[in-house]
Amino acid sequence: MYDILIIGAGPAGLAAAIYGRRAGKSVLIIEKESFGGQMNFSPKIENYPGFGEVSGMELSDKMVEQAIALGAEVELDTVLSLEDKGESKILHCEGGEFEGKAVIIATGAKHRHLGVDGEEELIGEGISFCAVCDGAFYEGKDVIVIGGGNSALQEAVLLSKTSKSVTVIQNLPHLTGEQKLQDILYADEKVSFIMPAEILSFSKEGEKVSVNINADGETKSVTADGVFVAIGLQPDNEAFKDNVELQYGYVKADESCITSKEGIFTAGDCRTKSIRQIATAVSDGAMAALAAISYIG
Ligand SMILES: Cc1cc2nc3c(=O)[nH]c(=O)nc-3n(C[C@H](O)[C@H](O)[C@H](O)COP(=O)(O)OP(=O)(O)OC[C@H]3O[C@@H](n4cnc5c(N)ncnc54)[C@H](O)[C@@H]3O)c2cc1C
Repeated sequence: MYDILIIGAGPAGLAAAIYGRRAGKSVLIIEKESFGGQMNFSPKIENYPGFGEVSGMELSDKMVEQAIALGAEVELDTVLSLEDKGESKILHCEGGEFEGKAVIIATGAKHRHLGVDGEEELIGEGISFCAVCDGAFYEGKDVIVIGGGNSALQEAVLLSKTSKSVTVIQNLPHLTGEQKLQDILYADEKVSFIMPAEILSFSKEGEKVSVNINADGETKSVTADGVFVAIGLQPDNEAFKDNVELQYGYVKADESCITSKEGIFTAGDCRTKSIRQIATAVSDGAMAALAAISYIG
């Protein structure tokens, strides 16, 4: 039986593994896709302390190497369910089952995609999902934000501080985010709105990205240096809905990373929190591991 089972090898799960191993606990990390999680999709990270500029792949490799060098075991498998037998927890996976004393759910979240032509090809090449991560690349440039809810409006407010112009494109005839955010944006001369408009596809025109839209029954293109798709995040915690309390699909926990169930902890983007970044995921990983160590003790 392992001391700590970690579901997900993003920065949260990897940080938890490092803390767990350094406390002398046996640790197994189970990852279903790629070790490093969302970091693998970021071509350039400029806000993780200690690295002026680093590719997501390189940062992933370094975290994975550190966890393995400390003795963490890794398994490429999908966790399908968690059986809570009190002092022991069993993770049922596609390829088998693993038993542990404590479990850390670090399953992350995915940015929702529009699913239109050109989107996947241009991710990291003009299309981004995170203004905190990539806004600085568009200082003094024209950007488009797609979406009209709270996450899109927050992205637009942030980008309006540094970009030359921000065009918000929304599929409904009105914005749906907080009134306070709407007021800030409507009062800003740099910000304009196209709504309602349906996004048809994306294409690259030299260094610029063209967003092809249908507005008022007319097809046209809007061009900018960068496009931020902000139509929400999708957590991946369905498998654990009978084990821990979820809120809008996120595992309910505060900074302590302790869930509603004894011996089950959580870390990173998959938990209820306001800022989802590598630095905050790593912080959660440390908190969750220390809480798990204390529980086992
Ligand atoms: C394109 C892009 C650029 C970004 N740029 C930056 C940036 O510049 N700076 C910054 O700080 N942040 C950035 N972020 C955000 C950052 O990557 C995330 O906040 C961070 O990776 C969250 O870490 P996590 O460990 O909580 O989750 P994730 O990184 O999402 O990792 C969770 C892992 O769990 C695995 N998993 C899920 N369910 C299961 C299951 N049932 N069984 C097994 N494994 C499972 C997933 O496959 C995934 O690998 C970016 C994100 C994206 C998408």
